Amino acid sequence: MKAIYLKGYRDFRRKYFRNHKKLFSELAEGQKPHTMVITCSDSRVNASLILNSKPGELFITRNIGNVVPPYEVTKGATQSAIEYAVNVLKIPNLVVLGHSSCGACAHLYHEKSDDEEEIELNHVDKWLTLIYPAKHEAILEALNTDEKNIFEITEKNNIKLSLQRLMTYPYIVRALEVGKLELHGWWYNIKEGKLEVYDYKSKNFVPISHYHSHK
Ligand SMILES: [Zn+2]
Repeated sequence: MKAIYLKGYRDFRRKYFRNHKKLFSELAEGQKPHTMVITCSDSRVNASLILNSKPGELFITRNIGNVVPPYEVTKGATQSAIEYAVNVLKIPNLVVLGHSSCGACAHLYHEKSDDEEEIELNHVDKWLTLIYPAKHEAILEALNTDEKNIFEITEKNNIKLSLQRLMTYPYIVRALEVGKLELHGWWYNIKEGKLEVYDYKSKNFVPISHYHSHK
């Protein structure tokens, strides 16, 4: 095993675990996270770090492209996580967290070179067909506005698409209707370390501080 893992583990035991022993004993009894985060597998996006949260606070599911598949009963990992979070843990907040420089969104525009034809990407290609509508809308938007960063538009559309897809889950709609759940869409700028939040009113992403001052 690489030394880096052991060093990290030792540091965790000596520092974080030692300083949070009470928290870990409480967590051993059960979890009551306040927020579910559906985010990208990308190694640069770390929801716990961005939100400075402790273990037990965030229920996180990750996949390539922070995709929410349409509601249907399949063997889906993402659907299972959402179902458990909303129906069993009764989590009051659900956030779709996308990000800048998302490889999944960029992949939609990538044309394979001859060398790349050999690389197996059968699952990735098939999985990402779920977010084609985000690309199609981005192309239209880029053609008709001054905004030229088509990747960023696609990333943000993809977050909106995931929010829309969540509305195909009957139990989510019910929880929203009775005020037991809130849905949010966030876009994380990796270089700046900043979050933008989807504003349902203006239908734009705005800095998170701006959003809260309007609520
Ligand atoms: Zn990504």
